[in-house]
Amino acid sequence: MRVAITLACSECKRRNYISSKNKKTTPNRLEINKYCSFCKTHTLHKETK
Ligand SMILES: [Zn+2]
Repeated sequence: MRVAITLACSECKRRNYISSKNKKTTPNRLEINKYCSFCKTHTLHKETK
């Protein structure tokens, strides 16, 4: 049931992380605070297709 997702920085829109999630436990779009090496700070990363 795990699907591959891409996490993109909400500031610069770059895709920094590739992850996976369980669609059953996390049906919503994933949002995590992660370090963006382009913004050089922690930013909100959102799941993209
Ligand atoms: Zn960024």
